[in-house]
Amino acid sequence: MQGKNVLISPIKIYALGGLGEVGKNTYCIESENDLIILDAGVKFPEDDLVGVDYVIPNYSHLKDNQQKIRALFITHGHEDHIGGIPFLVKTVKIPVIYAPKLAAALIKQKLEDQKIKEKIKIVEYDSDSVITAGEFKVSFIRVTHSIPDSFGICVDTKEGRIVDTGDFKIDLTPVGPDIEIHKMSRIGVEGVDLLLADSTNAEKDGWTPSEKNVLDSINEIFDKANGRLIISTFSSNISRIQQIVDCTIKHNRKIVIVGRSMVNTVEIALKFGYIKIPSSMIRDIDTMSDLKDSETVILCTGSQGEPMAALSRIANGTFKGLRIIPGDTVVFSSSPIPGNGVSIQRVVNQLTRAGADVITSSVFVDIHSSGHPSRQELRMNLKLYNPKYFMPAHGEYHMLKLHGDIARQLGIPRENIFILGNGDTLLLKNHKVVDGDRIPAEDVYIDGYDINGVSTAVIRDRKILQDDGMVSVMLVIDSKASKLMCPPKVITVGFVSYGKYEDHLTRHASMHVQEALQELFSSKKVTFNDIKNTCRSVVSKYYFRKTQRNPMIIPLVMNKVN
Ligand SMILES: [Zn+2]
Ligand SMILES: [Zn+2]
Repeated sequence: MQGKNVLISPIKIYALGGLGEVGKNTYCIESENDLIILDAGVKFPEDDLVGVDYVIPNYSHLKDNQQKIRALFITHGHEDHIGGIPFLVKTVKIPVIYAPKLAAALIKQKLEDQKIKEKIKIVEYDSDSVITAGEFKVSFIRVTHSIPDSFGICVDTKEGRIVDTGDFKIDLTPVGPDIEIHKMSRIGVEGVDLLLADSTNAEKDGWTPSEKNVLDSINEIFDKANGRLIISTFSSNISRIQQIVDCTIKHNRKIVIVGRSMVNTVEIALKFGYIKIPSSMIRDIDTMSDLKDSETVILCTGSQGEPMAALSRIANGTFKGLRIIPGDTVVFSSSPIPGNGVSIQRVVNQLTRAGADVITSSVFVDIHSSGHPSRQELRMNLKLYNPKYFMPAHGEYHMLKLHGDIARQLGIPRENIFILGNGDTLLLKNHKVVDGDRIPAEDVYIDGYDINGVSTAVIRDRKILQDDGMVSVMLVIDSKASKLMCPPKVITVGFVSYGKYEDHLTRHASMHVQEALQELFSSKKVTFNDIKNTCRSVVSKYYFRKTQRNPMIIPLVMNKVN
């Protein structure tokens, strides 16, 4: 028989990142003795965060529970799923990382680039693998997405089954291998207790176009261009890079690859056979001038206007050996990530001034979202897995909410659908799911690769104050008698926009704290830390639920002196 602890405590499921945002996906499944992590992503900061290079989750809960961590499982090789790994392994000991082949190669490259000295064990899995990690049994479902080797993850626990779809779309005519619909359906028939699913495209009606359709749009752009074609895309979008290569061949052009991350990714993808480019098709930037303009395709990074990326430097004339000439066609092949609009516009203006024809919108441009499921696919996904409980994941709040509505329309009861924020927990016990406590999961800003920089904490605090405000809770207690002397006084700073509603919020927050503390006092001998933690947990949970904000909570405890 297993240890009796397992029977006592439920399985905890929570996100440290990925909810209320597109980025830094990090989902955790934790029992009394074991903890596994699904994905460890990074988020790129928006324009207003000067001096911040990356945003990662607060890993303190993982650090506190380090001895329980059994493995990190990776669904696929995109930055919002693997970009946090260098920071995670510097903070927390991860015994083993399981990843599909291409993601494993990208992770190894990333760790090398960042000179991570710790020996990290990386094990490849594929569609047939079944991995035991502590008390969890983990298996995989191949899906279609915008990068080869993408998987959903199925985790069997003693209390029930959890499925995380990973990023996917249901592409019935994919460029690579098929999505394993038969397996999704089988898992659904066997029974899924809790489903976590990709919400990125929950606003889009219908069905995401197949990769095959996108090819036609790319062909059209090639047909129209007379001069050089400069195409910028995410280096991670390997399916799309292959399509650009195929069009290049078809239109008798040659391809020049520029930008460090683009060169790196293409190299890895070539080495493992995920991209096929005949070597006669590739030209060096130094010998590019031998080609006619009408024979040239330049593939580069910088579709989001990133100042240091190749396209920005080409646009402002600082890229060695490559300048815009009149007659060039420049294609931005990814839709702007919110917050990058200003940077993109600046680059577009520079390119246009230099004489280029700039294409920023077409079906081809909708590349970022085209790897994710639209509403019909979300419905099909829900039908196939047929989960008892549902937690929309991977998306901004309104995407999660819409995804929840879709599930409700399909007959999943409202109380079985959980629209959560990072740090909220769910408890799974005997095939039932309920809300749990909150754990720390705020953003951590990284300047360079220095995870311990003092500036990180300062920026973080300033940012929380600026965006989400501050809530201080004054508690007057009599520690000898274990009771509150008066109702908690809640004071907020930075919630001006809530006007009259603010009174309602502070009054209710105060009531919730009072109730929680009364319960705490009645149950055991409490410390000041217990009081502060309870207060923080109750107030942050309440404010998040009501305002979708994570204000800084500052409990002030005053003790009656006898
Ligand atoms: Zn992805
Ligand atoms: Zn993603």
